[in-house]
Amino acid sequence: MSQNNQIQQQIKILTEKLNRYAHEYYTLDAPSVPDSEYDRLYRELEALEMAYPTFRLPESPTQRVGGAILREFASVRHKIPMLSLNNAFSPLDDNGKFIHTETLAFDERVRKDLELSKVEYTIEPKFDGLAISLLYQDGIFIQAATRGDGITGEDVTENIKTVRNIPLKLQGQYIPDLIEVRGEVLMLKKDFEQLNQRQIAQNQKTFANPRNAAAGSLRQLNSRIAAERKLHFFGYGIAQFSGIQPENAPKTHAEELLWLQDLGFSLPTGNWHICANIAEVLQQYENLNAKRSTLPYEIDGMVIKVNSLAEQEKLGFVSRAPRWAIAHKFPAEEAMTQVETIDVQV
Ligand code: NAD
Repeated sequence: MSQNNQIQQQIKILTEKLNRYAHEYYTLDAPSVPDSEYDRLYRELEALEMAYPTFRLPESPTQRVGGAILREFASVRHKIPMLSLNNAFSPLDDNGKFIHTETLAFDERVRKDLELSKVEYTIEPKFDGLAISLLYQDGIFIQAATRGDGITGEDVTENIKTVRNIPLKLQGQYIPDLIEVRGEVLMLKKDFEQLNQRQIAQNQKTFANPRNAAAGSLRQLNSRIAAERKLHFFGYGIAQFSGIQPENAPKTHAEELLWLQDLGFSLPTGNWHICANIAEVLQQYENLNAKRSTLPYEIDGMVIKVNSLAEQEKLGFVSRAPRWAIAHKFPAEEAMTQVETIDVQV
C-alpha cells in the first residue's frame, strides 16, 4: 500500500472509531472508552486531516457537534446553534510543571485578531455534564432542549422542571420579555454516589460516572424517574434576550453571569473569576486544578472566555466552536476501571 493509501485508510479507521464512541457517549449515554482516549484519537485525526485535507471524510467528527438525537423525544430547532468548544491541553514537563503552549497560542491569536496588547478574560469550571438551553417568556420557563447535534436538540421540558435549582419563574431587577439561558445539567458527586448505592440495592446496573448518570436521567421519558434523580444546573451564558433597555443590558460575560444570578440561577460561586490577562488565567488554572477533587461536582477543565461581548462578536465563530473561548482541559483523572452503564430507559 502506498503511503497516501495508508494515511487515507488511517483517517477512515479513526473516523469510524470516533463516530462509534461519539454515538455511545452522546446518544446512548454509555461510553466504552475514557474521555482521554477519545481526546487522543480525536487529536490524531485532526492532525492527519490538517496535513491531508483532501482525505477528510464528510462524516468526520471534527466537522460537527455532539451526536444524533433520540427519536423518542420531540425535536427542537435551536434558533442560535449550540456549539462545542476547542480544547487546549497542558502537558506536564519533567519537573511536574504545566507546559501552557496551546493556551498561550490561543491568547496570542485573540490579541492579534483584536489588535490589543492585553485581553481581559473570564474563567469558569468546565462542568462535566450536558449542555441545556432554557427558554423563558415574560419571566416564565417554557422550554428546555438538549444540545443534540447543535442545530436540533431534544425537548426535555418536563424533565427539566424536576431540577430543583432551575427557576420556573424568574426574579430580579430586570426581567426580559424573552431570554434563552445556556448552562450545564449535572449530578453532584454525593447524589451520584447515593444513586449508585440505590441501583445496587435494587439489583440494577450502576452508572459509570456522574455525567452519564445526569445524561441518562435527563433523557428519561418518565419524568417521575428523572425527579428521583436529583439533578443540578449551573448557568454559563445567555444566547439571546429581548425587552431590556440597552443601558441595562450586559456588556461583558461577567455581567451576563451576574444577571443570571440575579434572575435566580446558580453560579459556581468562588470558582469563576475575571482575569486581567493570560498570566492570571494560568494562575487560576493551577488553583482550580488543585481544588478539583474537593469540588462537589465533576469538572474536566476550565473554560476561558474573552470577557467583552463586543470583542467576542468581533472574533466570531469557526464551524463548530467560538473563536473567543477555549476549554483548557485538566490532566486525565479517570481510569475507567468499570464500564458499567445503563441504557437510556424508554
Ligand atoms: P466539550 O465538552 O469539550 O465542550 C463543549 C461543552 O462544554 C459545551 O457544550 C458545554 O456543555 C460544556 N461546558 C461546561 N462548562 C462550560 C462553561 N463554563 N461554559 C461553556 N461551556 C461549558 O465538547 P463536546 O463536543 O461536548 O465533547 C467533547 C468531549 O466529550 C471530548 O473532549 C471527550 O472528552 C468527550 N467525549 C468522550 C467520548 C467517549 O467515548 N468517552 C465520546 C465523545 C466525546
